Order: sequence, then structure tokens, then C-alpha cells
Amino acid sequence: MTAPIQSIKTLLKELRLTAIYDVYQDWAKEAVEEDISHEAYLYRLLQRECEERFARKILRLQRISNLSGDKTFATFDLNRLPTNILKTVKIIREGHFLENHENILIFGNPGSGKTHLMSAIAHEQISNGRSIRNFACTTLVQELLKAKRDLDLNFLLKRYSKLDGIMIDDIGYVQQSQQEMEVLFTLLADRYERGSVMVTSNLPFSQWEKIFKDKVMAVAAVDRLVHHSIIIELNLPSYRIYKAKEKKYEK
Ligand code: ADP
Ligand code: MG
Repeated sequence: MTAPIQSIKTLLKELRLTAIYDVYQDWAKEAVEEDISHEAYLYRLLQRECEERFARKILRLQRISNLSGDKTFATFDLNRLPTNILKTVKIIREGHFLENHENILIFGNPGSGKTHLMSAIAHEQISNGRSIRNFACTTLVQELLKAKRDLDLNFLLKRYSKLDGIMIDDIGYVQQSQQEMEVLFTLLADRYERGSVMVTSNLPFSQWEKIFKDKVMAVAAVDRLVHHSIIIELNLPSYRIYKAKEKKYEK
């Protein structure tokens, strides 16, 4: 059977080559004027299509990331970090932690910059085409609990498993019930060695029994998180207070 004769535009539409659709006629004229080979013309078109697809992908990833748009490295003062942490951050920014399914754990007191730093890391990796979603720990737990009640937990975990990274902001900030902690543990166990988890917490591991109520579960959760992980301890004074003091001295 021969294919029906269709115009180039119809074919491009059918193949969803929208970027080529937009430029191929103008570029064909240019190619004639500049005496560009057929291959070079085709190459340019394909390259354009790929670039646009990548740009659209990044936009989609940014939309689903649930990250605050302004918490990037552009607005983060790296000079505040001690040299050893700067070195670690440099390694993290290479992005291998995602393909190695390693976790990133940032600890520190409130205002030390945990959420900002983790968000900046996530933003940067998203712009490299990786999928990361940020959850406030309490929201994530509620989502998991609801799925469990609706017998949809496996389905939800499968959806999350497609993400390169799951950011869980503020583990341990709010005390949670045994049931809530159980679903969080289920998620951590599910992702173990299969995908990165990026955690921020005010509580050091020694106090995770408070989060998980149950000591055995706390140890098991910490064990899974730490096994392949990069840990940053941001023992810095609150950035808000630091900035407020700076203002005072400027006066
Ligand atoms: P934490 O999550 O540790 O409580 P945040 O990341 O929310 O702290 O930081 C508190 C505030 O200070 C935020 O507005 C954040 O953007 C800002 N901040 C913290 N550290 C820095 C930094 N090194 N450079 C720029 N802003 C910072
Ligand atoms: Mg925070």
C-alpha cells in the first residue's frame, strides 16, 4: 500500500515536528541563497527541533517541580558556606548523585539556608533535564495517607518512582502520628537504591526517634537514607538574623 500524498506541512504536523514546521520554508530559501547542502539543511532543522523539545521539557519539569522560582544559585550567597561544604556542593552540582541514586541530606537550624540550598540544587538539575519534585514533608505525608486509604498507594509510589529526585522539605518539623510515619517510611523504603531522596531537616539523626516514634523504624529509615548519601551540616546562624544585623551596621 502506498502512503497517501500529503503536503509537507501535514506530514510535519502528523509527526509533531512543530519547530521544523515553523522554519523549514524560510530556511529552505536561505539554504538556496547560501548554497547550503541538503544534509546541512536537514541537520539544522533536526537540531532546531531537538533544541525546542528540550526547552519545552525543561518548562514542563519546572512546572511540576513545585519549587519556589527565586530560590536558585543566582540568589544564593555561596560565600556564606565554609570551605568544606563548598567543596561538597561543587560535587553535588555535577549531578551524578541522581544517576547513582544517592541521597542528599541537609541538616541545620532554622534559617540556615537548607531549603534555599536544596532548591537551588534541584533547579540546576532540572535545567539539565532531570525530574525533581519538591514536597513539604507534611503535604507529602498527607498525599501518601490519602492514597493508602483509597488503596492507591502502590500506584502513587510508581508515579513517584519515575522522578529522578524527590525533595522532602522539613522532615521532623511537625510531629506526626504513627500512621503518617509509616507511609513516609514506605516511600523511603520504596526509593532505596532506586531513586534519589533530597531531605532537609532541623533534627539531627539522633533525634529521629521523635519523628518516627518507633525506634526500630527510625533506625531503619536512617539506615536506608544514609547508605548512599551526601550529608551537609549547615551549622550557620540564621540568614535572616545575619541580614538584619548587616542592615543595622550599615546605618
Ligand atoms: P531553612 O530552610 O534552613 O530554615 P531557608 O533556606 O528558608 O532556611 O533560608 C531562610 C531565608 O534566608 C530564605 O529567605 C533564604 O532565601 C535566605 N537565605 C538563607 N541562606 C542564604 C544564602 N546563603 N544566600 C542567600 N539567601 C539565603
Ligand atoms: Mg526550610
